[in-house]
Amino acid sequence: MAIGDELVGGFTLDTNSHWMAERLRILGYPVKRVTQIRDKPHEIIDQVQRELADAEITDVFVSGGLGPTPDDRTFPALADALGKELVIWEETRARIERRVQRMHSMGLLESPEVTEGNLRMARIPDGPAHVFKNRRGMAPGAVYQADGTRIFVLPGVPMEMKGIFTEELEPEFLAGGSAATVRELRFTFAVEARFYPLMRELEALFPDVSVGSYPNFETKELVIRCVGLDPKRVEETLDVIRKRAPV
Ligand code: ATP
Ligand code: MG
Repeated sequence: MAIGDELVGGFTLDTNSHWMAERLRILGYPVKRVTQIRDKPHEIIDQVQRELADAEITDVFVSGGLGPTPDDRTFPALADALGKELVIWEETRARIERRVQRMHSMGLLESPEVTEGNLRMARIPDGPAHVFKNRRGMAPGAVYQADGTRIFVLPGVPMEMKGIFTEELEPEFLAGGSAATVRELRFTFAVEARFYPLMRELEALFPDVSVGSYPNFETKELVIRCVGLDPKRVEETLDVIRKRAPV
C-alpha cells in the first residue's frame, strides 16, 4: 500500500512498491497486490480493513504519509482502522529531539527546539509490535499485529524506506522465507497470440506454476516467464514450452 496524493495524481512514480515487490519476491514473500491510496484518512482506513479481511494476506506493507505536514495522515488513519489511540512514542520523540539538536549544532536548523511538526512524527498508534529506528530520517516506522496479520508501516522517502527495510525489517521479520524459482525462455520475433493455446494448456497441467508472456518491443523478444515454488515443476513446464513453442 503506497500512500500519497502525488502517486495517485501521476506526479511521482511509485518506485517504493516496485522495489518492495522485488525484494519480497526474492525473500520468498510473493506479493498478492499493490495499491496506491490518496492521503485521505477514510480511504486509508478502508484499504487497511480490506487487507485485514483477506484471509490470504499475512503481511501488509505500507509506505508514505508519516511526515510532519498535515497532509501526512497514515498513522492517525491506521489508529482508527485498528481501534487504537495515538500516543507519543517516547523513544522516537527522544531520537527526534537528539536529531534536531544535532542539526541545530551543524547550523542546519535555526532552533534546537522540537517543533509541533517534529513531534507529530512521534505520534503513532499505541501498542506497536515493534518501532523501527530509521537512521536516515525523523519519521519512524512501526509494525502492528492485527488478527494474525502483520502491518509494516514505513516512511515514503525511498532512501529511508529502503534503509529501514534492508537494515531493520528484513533481518528481524522476513528471515526464513523460501524464494520461488524464476525461469525465462526468450523467443525472437515470436507472435504472442500463437502462444495462447499452449499457455492455456500449461495452466491446466501446471496450476502450481505461473506462466506469463511479456513481449519486449525494443529487443523484439517474447519472454515467457515461469514462476513456482517447486524448481522441478518449473523445469517441467519449461520442457513442455521448449518442445511445443509455436515458433
Ligand atoms: P518523511 O517524514 O520523511 O517526509 P513520509 O512518510 O511523510 O516521510 P511522504 O511525505 O509521503 O513521506 O513522501 C516523502 C517523499 O517521498 C516525497 O517526495 C514523495 O513523493 C516520495 N515518495 C513517497 N512515496 C513514494 C513512493 N511510493 N515511491 C516513490 N517516492 C515516494
Ligand atoms: Mg506524502
